[in-house]
Amino acid sequence: MSAPLRVETNIHDDDLWSDEDDLLLLETCTENSEVNCLEQPETHPSDSSTAASVKSKNTADTNNTTSSDHELPPLQRYRPNYLWVSDLTNQKWCEQKMVYSFTVPVLVEENPTMTAGSTLHLARELAVHDVVRVQITSNEDIFAIKLMNLLTAIVGFLNGLTVAREVPIFGTPFDEDVLVIGVIDELRFDPESYIIDLLELKTRKMKSLPKESQLSQHRLQVMVYKKLFDDLVKGKLSKETVARHLKLSLEKQFGESISKHLEDKLITSKNLNNLFDFVFMKIQAMTCVSQVIIEYVHQDSHETMLHKEVFYDDDELRTQFVQLLKFWKGERKPVGVDIEESYKCQCCEFADICEWRAQKAEEHALRRTQQQNKAVS
Ligand code: SF4
Repeated sequence: MSAPLRVETNIHDDDLWSDEDDLLLLETCTENSEVNCLEQPETHPSDSSTAASVKSKNTADTNNTTSSDHELPPLQRYRPNYLWVSDLTNQKWCEQKMVYSFTVPVLVEENPTMTAGSTLHLARELAVHDVVRVQITSNEDIFAIKLMNLLTAIVGFLNGLTVAREVPIFGTPFDEDVLVIGVIDELRFDPESYIIDLLELKTRKMKSLPKESQLSQHRLQVMVYKKLFDDLVKGKLSKETVARHLKLSLEKQFGESISKHLEDKLITSKNLNNLFDFVFMKIQAMTCVSQVIIEYVHQDSHETMLHKEVFYDDDELRTQFVQLLKFWKGERKPVGVDIEESYKCQCCEFADICEWRAQKAEEHALRRTQQQNKAVS
């Protein structure tokens, strides 16, 4: 049976800035870089509990921007023409904050909460995978690893496994021609009914349930995952589209290490052209995601506090997605939080410099003055 490859990154998230996209992809690939991968063991324990982590690092170096950079839409100015699912969820929390995170240098330090979340995620992942190491020599090699990890999950299901973790996913939802990449925490497969469920694990430092704004952020995340997975099952994504967005060559031969790993798995693909075909064929034999669940786990006790089933609404997701993408395409300016969610500003590292917040405070003060003047007259 095919074993999973998993790129291991040093990137961490906390409960708020969630997600687990491997930012290695196409950003830090250097000649002969070595990456860690995970391989499925012969025996595989059932789903124990834990979590994964990622922290988006700032990608824009303000010192290196040129006047022509400022004319580019945010998708190219702040991102290399594609998005991570975490970009969308960060944007959902506060778009203005996300923009500051790209443009204002901040010291990103790993805190104990992030470390605990990472440890829980890693432990859960290692429960179903073993680590293997491969040498990467090109961006095509890196994407081949993503495809292999996805393939391993699918082939594992077809061979009787019921759980796959850290499953790469990608696509161009709703024909918006923007590539989105992410990693699904967990897929659960019922071999009898062929039903696939999607589970996202969120660790919480405090033993309290998430606020509505956090729930809606997480809901967006898992709905995007389901959309990406289902689109692959339905054959809606072409290899040419992925290659065009990521500037990959479909014909370029994989490096020696990747080729050897594929051979070990009895996969004859020598380039992305063949590997895409093989992976797409396998995933199109699966069914779309049925249930979508978010599990909230207390970090210290590992106790599950909430098992929330998410109702997937395609129209709602489309509306949100299109609105979020208007910013990335440069069709509208970034916005900060509404007054009802101003509590988010209290823990925002950009609060002191935030122009959106200052403007809202001015508007609020003006309204109060007008009301007072009205009351007096
Ligand atoms: S201060 Fe508030 S509005 Fe401004 S970036 Fe931070 S969270 Fe957003």
